Amino acid sequence: MRLTVIGYWHGYPEEGEATSGYLLEEGEWKLLLDCGSGVISSLQKYCDVTDLNGIVLSHYHHDHRADVGIYQYARIINQGLGKAMKNATIYGHRQDEQSFLKLGYKDLLTAQSYDDKKPINIGPFTFTFLQTHHPVPCYAMRIQAKDNTLVYTADSSYFPELADFAIEADLLIAECSGYEGDSIGQFGHMTSEDVGQLAKKAKPTQVLLSHLPHFGNHEQLRTEVAKHFSGTVRLASSGLQLNV
Ligand SMILES: [Zn+2]
Ligand SMILES: [Zn+2]
Repeated sequence: MRLTVIGYWHGYPEEGEATSGYLLEEGEWKLLLDCGSGVISSLQKYCDVTDLNGIVLSHYHHDHRADVGIYQYARIINQGLGKAMKNATIYGHRQDEQSFLKLGYKDLLTAQSYDDKKPINIGPFTFTFLQTHHPVPCYAMRIQAKDNTLVYTADSSYFPELADFAIEADLLIAECSGYEGDSIGQFGHMTSEDVGQLAKKAKPTQVLLSHLPHFGNHEQLRTEVAKHFSGTVRLASSGLQLNV
């Protein structure tokens, strides 16, 4: 699998950037994990918008799904222009029925639900889900392709089952919304200290810190995680590519 960071900001896209969005590729398959604000614009640096096989959404907060409607418009405009497009499917949970029903669009984008009871296969990927601790229903994803595993925490405060879910991943994308000592668990987010504990228990090969705060020096987050975890710790940045 190849992962490209499209957007990594916490609540809103800073100038010229995007909130949560990750392009995941295996062979000809291209999926977006989350589709936050600015993602459809930034995506086009790496992939034609018509070449996506679909989107998997963790939850329906704006910073993770703001560009879904924009993607729908990209589909209808490119269809109108007569461009060749892959069929596309958008995956979301069904615990918020109103939000789920807005995902599909005409015959251009099919909506499909997932839950944490059984894995689903999407092209070469197998996705397993775990509901996280967040103010609205949100799901972490464990994604396998060939013999490699990527885990994406989505948004969550720390809880021990999250570490079990992420066990021995080749890459763990962990939300890291605050610094050591910040009180953000109550809002359903993790600090660098929480991510350090998560990584210590889950023992991934490498951790990618994302969903980064709009203040402070992000390099400090990396140092704080590394106090607890001796593996590779990276900071997300726009366009960063990792092979998993
Ligand atoms: Zn959220
Ligand atoms: Zn978020």
